[in-house]
Amino acid sequence: RAKQQGRNSLCYFDAAHDAALQARHQLLHALREALQQGQFRLHYQPKVDMGSGQVIGLEALIRWQHPQRGLVPPAEFLPVIEDDALGLDVGDWVLAQALRQLTEWAAAGCALPVSVNIAARHLQAPGFVERLAELLRQHPQVPPALLELEILETGALQDLQAVRQVLTAAQDLGLQFALDDFGTGYSSLAYLKNLPVRTLKIDQGFVRGMAQDPGDRAIVQAVIGLAQAFDREVIAEGVEDRELAALLLALGCRQGQGYGFARPLPPEQVPAWVRGFVASWRPLCPHEEGS
Ligand code: C2E
Ligand code: MG
Ligand code: MG
Ligand code: MG
Repeated sequence: RAKQQGRNSLCYFDAAHDAALQARHQLLHALREALQQGQFRLHYQPKVDMGSGQVIGLEALIRWQHPQRGLVPPAEFLPVIEDDALGLDVGDWVLAQALRQLTEWAAAGCALPVSVNIAARHLQAPGFVERLAELLRQHPQVPPALLELEILETGALQDLQAVRQVLTAAQDLGLQFALDDFGTGYSSLAYLKNLPVRTLKIDQGFVRGMAQDPGDRAIVQAVIGLAQAFDREVIAEGVEDRELAALLLALGCRQGQGYGFARPLPPEQVPAWVRGFVASWRPLCPHEEGS
């Protein structure tokens, strides 16, 4: 009887598995069409200097403008394409789109650095640096130093040397790098020690928890200390309110990004947001322990 049950649940599993596979297949097909039909968008989330109220850059974040479903967030479609060749095509599109936007903003006299998220697989794909160089040639009005790549650690330590080679070559083109979600991977410290990155991005999970959880606060402090010791910059993600901003500032982290300043914005709203933010900035009160 146990055997029979086992067989039944196996059948059930197979059917569910088939349905999931088919749904994934359909989504992949829809995403290929989305790329061809120009349905992807980049939104831009401001990064600010929490000490001075200056806007220091923008992070490009992909969305899918679906004709029926509206704006679809990346968590709902990036996992489906990341193991497919489409992931590389979408990654190339993101880079090209960010450079087109930078060109437009440069012409309008509002050039801010833009950072682009790069999947580790994209970074290590053959010809990545050559395509990057070609894209930069096609956008001569954009100083390469305005383009930053945000690298998410993959967990495979043997990739480190390959990643290092690519970053060194891209560095020669003038680009800057940040380690995204720093502290959440398996080998963050090896990445910090071995890669030519300018900036550590403290993961938003630690940042959000730091007001209540002493462990999160200790991790945030440790990352700020590491950045100082290695002479790197540090930015906090997920800064949702002024209290967190004041706390981070008191700990020595000046750069921040989060809903407390702005949500990711469609590009046409960015220049007005920047002007409004700068005009309405109020200095943060230094955070007082135990208050
Ligand atoms: P990420 O690079 O760590 O980006 C930060 C994410 O946190 C964004 O979500 C952003 O909207 C969200 N966020 C920002 N501030 C706050 C806050 O104060 N509170 C909360 N709760 N969330 C905040 P999004 O846009 O959904 O992107 C999720 C992830 O998808 C990104 O995490 C990144 O890993 C990936 N991603 C986004 N765009 C691209 C892309 O163009 N290429 C690649 N390869 N990955 C991308
Ligand atoms: Mg990022
Ligand atoms: Mg992040
Ligand atoms: Mg993330």
